[in-house]
Amino acid sequence: MIMKGIKLSLLLAVISGNIFAQAQKTPESTELWSPIPPVVTPGEGTAAPSDAIILFDGASLNEWTNAKGEAAGWTVADGCVTVKPGTGIIKTKRGFGDCQLHIEWRSPAEVKGDGQGRGNSGIFLQDRYEVQVLDCYNNKTYSNGQTGSIYKQSIPLVNACKKPGEWQVYDIIYRAPRFSENGRIAVPAGITVLHNGVLIQNNVEIRGTTPYIGLPEYIPHSMKEPLSLQDHGNPVSYRNIWIREL
Ligand code: MG
Repeated sequence: MIMKGIKLSLLLAVISGNIFAQAQKTPESTELWSPIPPVVTPGEGTAAPSDAIILFDGASLNEWTNAKGEAAGWTVADGCVTVKPGTGIIKTKRGFGDCQLHIEWRSPAEVKGDGQGRGNSGIFLQDRYEVQVLDCYNNKTYSNGQTGSIYKQSIPLVNACKKPGEWQVYDIIYRAPRFSENGRIAVPAGITVLHNGVLIQNNVEIRGTTPYIGLPEYIPHSMKEPLSLQDHGNPVSYRNIWIREL
């Protein structure tokens, strides 16, 4: 009798399990109806989508300062802003953490210098982590310092450079680093970069700051820090800069 009882309860368990499994196989059982993603109107071409912050619209440096927090000293003309050598970096007044950044840049049409001296600038996420801007069209330099490198850390997958004087595009997806309360790095920063629509950094881990001399290191900072652009002494231009906070 006991054995029969066990067999019966096993049978019932199998049947009810099957019924439960069947219920799980309806289309509705795997549909999520919330949260509902907010509606964003895409921009035409490379124009900013409706939820982006416009950092440079071709006319005004209102969103920018120099390193001291004074008016940005670069030259605005013809819908772009150009490095004025010797005036130093410019940086955003606002801070940003995780973000999607669209930025267009152009190295000078008149080729001067070579290696790191040709059309050098840079995009510093959180004022520290440089995505290299350089004219690497038929210009040899160290691989981890060429166009689209995470400077001295990560070599780009390919060289997607256009000719000097032509506008180029970076689309960057950035995840800010997380620090633990004792100041140690908890989760390193991560970055994906498309250069002229071509993937060149594929969800790469950033190992820390990107110094010219020495090794990367993480020094704790706040979740939101300014975006800065480098004055490396070459008249590199920028336009159509927009960012989406993630
Ligand atoms: Mg640079």
